[in-house]
Amino acid sequence: MTTSSKHPETIALHGGSWRRDESSTSVAVPIHQTTSYQFNSAEHAANLFGLKEFGNIYTRIMNPTTNVLEERVAALEGGLAAVCVSSGQAASAFVVQNLCNSGDNFVASTDLYGGTVNLFNNTLKAMGIEVRYADPKDPENFAKLTDSKTRLYYAETLPNPSLRVFPIQEVADIGKKLNVPLILDNTACPVICRPFEHGAAIVMHSLTKFIGGHGTSIGGIIVDSGNFDWSADKARQPNIWQPDMSYHGAVWGDAVPQLTGANIPFAIRARVVLLRDLGSAISPFNSFQIIQGLETVALRMKQHCENAEKVKNFLLKHNKIEKVIYSTLHDGEIGARAKRYLKGGSGALMGIEIKGGLEAGKKFIDNLKLLYHVANIGDARSLAIHPASTTHSQLSAKDLLAAGVTPGYVRLSIGIEHADDIIADIDQALKA
Ligand code: PLP
Repeated sequence: MTTSSKHPETIALHGGSWRRDESSTSVAVPIHQTTSYQFNSAEHAANLFGLKEFGNIYTRIMNPTTNVLEERVAALEGGLAAVCVSSGQAASAFVVQNLCNSGDNFVASTDLYGGTVNLFNNTLKAMGIEVRYADPKDPENFAKLTDSKTRLYYAETLPNPSLRVFPIQEVADIGKKLNVPLILDNTACPVICRPFEHGAAIVMHSLTKFIGGHGTSIGGIIVDSGNFDWSADKARQPNIWQPDMSYHGAVWGDAVPQLTGANIPFAIRARVVLLRDLGSAISPFNSFQIIQGLETVALRMKQHCENAEKVKNFLLKHNKIEKVIYSTLHDGEIGARAKRYLKGGSGALMGIEIKGGLEAGKKFIDNLKLLYHVANIGDARSLAIHPASTTHSQLSAKDLLAAGVTPGYVRLSIGIEHADDIIADIDQALKA
């Protein structure tokens, strides 16, 4: 660590071991646009391939620019190790594939990004991996769906469109009793939620969103807390405890702590098995771009959340609005979770139902002048989209409603422009 600070503003700039480039003294992280690395000797090469020591081999598996991003996001989340991949989608696939084989299952929240639902319902299903959906309204639903072949729980901290904050501690506690790790997609909540403090075992992000922040680069990351007790039920995690014949029978649960001194078999297996075999590597250039975004993520999250609060208060009083959906506006326990788990802001994402349904929603989108109409969230700019006809259009009518997408729902990702300008644009589009 170049910093022992616990403040996210400082960690975003100084977290991890990077201080400067030792050969040039460059402070900015260089883009190591290389595929390969010259070995010191035949013995050195053999040691690297045999995992007797760690070092650079080939950019499909590791890269020095990407390594800075990995260490810094791990520090921001309070984890021990991280692995970057080519996209958030690849991160979602990897976290499941790292523990599940054909015949295994996992329990996922019903509140998920549409692309994740497609991955789980179709591609992973075709591989023989079964997803079981639990409504997080009652955390016990996760326990009810767990059997001896359940390898993990999967959820999003602040899923859209429902914007119901996930009961992190509640489900993590159930997982600890049953020895099932909770994996959380924290894409919508960097800085404002640190899921490891509430018992999550693994966190992943689409780096494409708030961490990158400028809509330039696709990327994903998986962070290992180092806190999950994989040894408590060895039969539950065959990928951690059965010999891996592709590494001469290595048992990751034993080999990784011996090699690294850390309880990070999940992160190491994702890198040396999944990145090696599936090859979804991030490009060093994208890592560089995302590092530039990461450096200001704490500042931006503060501004995103402050602006969202002002936009929400404006919309709540607007006569063209049927309903505002926002993390803290939910009644009872679900609204209380937003206050419990989100700190320093309640998120940039918001849903609105405009009076007049589908047609009114489409007209609103077509009349926006400042807000962009794009399939993205977490950009510095304010964004809007109509999920029923775009991001969620591949879901069935039943799955749409289960995901909380009504025909007139418009999703807003509030940016960091001046709040008055965002409000003025929304107001003129509503009046139009
Ligand atoms: N997770 C969430 C919550 C998302 O919103 C997205 C994309 O919208 C993804 C994962 C997938 O990320 P990517 O687009 O980087 O593949």
